Amino acid sequence: MTTTRFAPSPTGYIHVGNLRTALMNYLIARKAGGTFILRIDDTDPERSKEEYVDAIKQDLEWLGLHWDRVERQSDRLDRYAEAADKLREIGRFYEAFETPTELDLKRKKQLNMGKPPVYDRAALSLSEAEKEALRAERGNGVWRFKLDHERIEWNDGILGDISIDAASVSDPVLIRGDGQVLYTIASVVDDTEMGVTDVVRGSDHVTNTATQIQIIEALGGTCPRFAHHSLLTGPQGEALSKRLGTLALRDLREQGVQPMALLSLMARLGSSDPVELRADMSELIDGFDIGRFGAAPTKFDVQDLFPLTAKHLQSLPLADVSEAVADAGVPADLAEPFWTMARENITTLGDLKAWWDLCRDGAEPLIDDEDRAFIAEAMDLLPDGPFDGDTWGTWTKAVKEATGRKGKGLFMPLRKALTGMERGPEMATLLPLLQVIRARG
Ligand code: GLU
Repeated sequence: MTTTRFAPSPTGYIHVGNLRTALMNYLIARKAGGTFILRIDDTDPERSKEEYVDAIKQDLEWLGLHWDRVERQSDRLDRYAEAADKLREIGRFYEAFETPTELDLKRKKQLNMGKPPVYDRAALSLSEAEKEALRAERGNGVWRFKLDHERIEWNDGILGDISIDAASVSDPVLIRGDGQVLYTIASVVDDTEMGVTDVVRGSDHVTNTATQIQIIEALGGTCPRFAHHSLLTGPQGEALSKRLGTLALRDLREQGVQPMALLSLMARLGSSDPVELRADMSELIDGFDIGRFGAAPTKFDVQDLFPLTAKHLQSLPLADVSEAVADAGVPADLAEPFWTMARENITTLGDLKAWWDLCRDGAEPLIDDEDRAFIAEAMDLLPDGPFDGDTWGTWTKAVKEATGRKGKGLFMPLRKALTGMERGPEMATLLPLLQVIRARG
């Protein structure tokens, strides 16, 4: 059975880059009728925070990316310790004692000599007595996985055939000197034991994947299918990594971005399918195909989310937004006509309040000098209320007959006088909502 997981580290809020990973894994699982696991990668007790775990869940729920179960790495430390023991038993795990400064020096030397900066495995030749002495002097060493120096190959769901020379990669550290288990081994143990069949993650993990394939094999597990999506860049192709902090999902929510707008964009961006607003999650699931994504960096422009949000809002009935309409101050008896008018004229629900304020308080009228007499005459002709959808038509017809004005010369001064703007909602829909005018009825 298809099983995927989204595995954030709870060290911050999730952003659009994380969402791409989450969404791809979610869609694969749902399309196959499989399982989607939310895995919290919290083996780092200093940086992991409970508030971020909660925030990640809230953000995913807001988007409707429901998980089938949650797993936490901090609950599974004994499983990782067992795997570490096994690697020791089969001779694929060794303790190394270099300090970060020493490692840095080694790397610099290698680079100076034009060699790739790969760990030289000096620790492999330490005798037991030497290790004892180092332990006494520096404390416990780190534990490195001994890679087999051969080519590591896989068929990547996005990148195609990949082949990496293991000799060009340092033996990965899986356990730190203080005993902290690192993601590289924890993830492998989890993916294997939880029966994860498909792993989609960012292309910054390609080298990790190479080493993890060897670890999985060493532990006797079965490799999942891997796919690495490209990383997002800004609209000009600039690196987004520094700006991702400002592209947290909660900030977008705060700015009024609608979930379907965000999902519609992220589920297709970087693929050969066009980005179009989808009505609901099932449409996204049906049309999703990981094979249609390309390897090239993907440009992301936060501004693209707003036209999609506006379009989505236009499609919604009052029932879906009644809370926001009430929050804007609209009385219940006017909610329906107000929403019919407003939804064509907003980008986000945050714009509702300004429209209601205009309806309630009236706008600062915009009247050109040459229109003053005309507007005064028109106002006298305004029929008695109550106003409905026909009032505008009846009124402007009477004004036309009385003044001889027609077309733009008739309608534009009236619009400007009533709304203070040259463009805006259908006047026929707006007029019955204007409270100052209603008061005359
Ligand atoms: N916690 C890892 C990360 O956030 C998970 C990577 C993976 O999907 O394996 O980068």
